[in-house]
Amino acid sequence: MMERGEILSWLRQDDPRELERLWGLADSLRQENLGDEVHLRGLVEVSSHCGRNCLYCGLRRNNDGLERYRMGEEEILACASRAAELGYFTVVLQSGEDRALDTGKVSRVIRRIRQELPSMAITLSLGERSTEELALWRESGADRYLLRFETSRRDLYRMIHPPSGDDSTSDRFRILHQLRALGYETGSGVMVGIPGQSYSDLADDILAFGSLDLDMIGSGPYLPHPDTPLGRLYRAARAGVAGQVPNSLEMACKVIALTRVVCPQANIPATTALAALDRESGYRLGLQRGANVVMPNLTPPRYRALYQIYPGKAGLSGEEEQHAAVAGMIAGIGRRVGASRGDSPNYLKRTATAHKQGREMKCLQPQA
Ligand code: SAH
Ligand code: SF4
Repeated sequence: MMERGEILSWLRQDDPRELERLWGLADSLRQENLGDEVHLRGLVEVSSHCGRNCLYCGLRRNNDGLERYRMGEEEILACASRAAELGYFTVVLQSGEDRALDTGKVSRVIRRIRQELPSMAITLSLGERSTEELALWRESGADRYLLRFETSRRDLYRMIHPPSGDDSTSDRFRILHQLRALGYETGSGVMVGIPGQSYSDLADDILAFGSLDLDMIGSGPYLPHPDTPLGRLYRAARAGVAGQVPNSLEMACKVIALTRVVCPQANIPATTALAALDRESGYRLGLQRGANVVMPNLTPPRYRALYQIYPGKAGLSGEEEQHAAVAGMIAGIGRRVGASRGDSPNYLKRTATAHKQGREMKCLQPQA
């Protein structure tokens, strides 16, 4: 396990020759633990309505300049079928925290995908939802849940992620523990280069990935959105603050690489934000520096343009075109598109251990 001091010095390292060693280490750990397959997950942005007011995100409730949409059941199903046609084994349903995307509706969509596309894994990323909802969706057939904790520094988190009306705490760590207990393959991550984030904070984030024993870890650069309070602050403080983590491609890659070192068996995506920062080489560099997953966007184009978490989102091209570009890039770096669900080895290992322990406990119980 890499020590905190070593993580910190890698985060501060900017000698390209030294960094080659970090990229090499991350790539060999990826190869050893996950092999050469790159798993493609079809991302469907099912609703842009959001009741929360995160200071960084363009979908925040108070951004009233944005036209909002919510996809219907049939539309979501059509996107999941599209994912299957393209040869993907996972569909990711993502949205703002939209109460109208209610328990029953989500549950019905999950059951239908399960029934109509049995080999498709279902990942949800619908924000902070109640334990009852998370449990029901798991029972309905959802496999995985993504919920980034954004930053492990409590005061920074509270500042950029204010509680919404019906929740006065917003404790994403508590929800991550619940997701794990419910049997979800559990994913989280952070933004890199949030105004006010220090190197030390980022080292703590990476250590937190390890202590949470996460199955999937997606981190990407913070991208300032001009219609958000944090975006405006970012612009005003452009001269830079001493000790501030840059929201650069290189820094985001360092986080991917160090995450691979700390969590060798987790699935790690080269995130969309990485590609938004550098269309040419964002995905490729992420994959060569520890990542093993890409999430092509399958949201119908008329909605995709409205799902403005940050500006300049990658993936505004058609699905076929996008798929061909991603598949070509994967082949170009000597890797291949995954041909299975690509469950996280970390998840498979920890659940196998839990089952084994369960069996052993049963054996130890007195026989009637
Ligand atoms: N509402 C859900 C899912 C959608 S937001 C949720 O909040 O979990 C998904 C992710 O987008 C967030 O976790 C956040 O890390 C990222 N995000 C939001 N605004 C961003 C920005 N300006 N730059 C980079 N990433 C951003
Ligand atoms: Fe809503 Fe998620 Fe954006 Fe926060 S990050 S405003 S919860 S969509």
